[in-house]
Amino acid sequence: MDQAPRHDGRPELQLALGDITEQDTDAIVNAANSSLLGGGGVDGAIHRAAGPELVQCCRGLGGCDTGEAKVTPGFRLTARWIIHTVGPVWHGGDRGERALLYSCYEASLALADEVGARSIAFPSISTGAFGYPISQAAETAVAAVRNTPTAVELVRFVCFAHDTWKAYETILDSTVG
Ligand code: ADP
Repeated sequence: MDQAPRHDGRPELQLALGDITEQDTDAIVNAANSSLLGGGGVDGAIHRAAGPELVQCCRGLGGCDTGEAKVTPGFRLTARWIIHTVGPVWHGGDRGERALLYSCYEASLALADEVGARSIAFPSISTGAFGYPISQAAETAVAAVRNTPTAVELVRFVCFAHDTWKAYETILDSTVG
């Protein structure tokens, strides 16, 4: 008897150049700040696209610590869920930045599992206003997603700029899937 292949806990990884608000994944991730009340960069774009219901909803969440994540509906987005995570601010690398960034990916995947999302799109967390060097952030993002057991079947890294895309491509090409 034929059986559907069982998901082995290792999602397919995709790389895309584009806007995270336009992704058709079940969940998208927001690189938020700890207030969860909106900001610039990807956070601002997500709030604009999701509509004012999002900030209303976020007011009830009580903020979010660095390295952790919280989930809301996607409101006007195609994505059903928005997973808000707070990346570390880069201080040179000796203040636990890597562990905190890694934890953002782990916590986001755990929440995706909790809500039953099977596909998720991540922006390049911490690499804008928070100043994390892109190649190091890409290495951590890919390592965390590869090493975290999850029922998510598709993880898409969505890069907004070509140099970000290039950094991810280099890491994905140089590491075994
Ligand atoms: P952080 O504060 O975590 O550094 P930023 O929003 O400043 O967050 O930047 C994180 C990354 O998101 C950067 O690589 C930035 O270019 C990218 N970015 C900005 N807007 C979007 C968008 N609409 N879709 C996807 N990525 C975006």
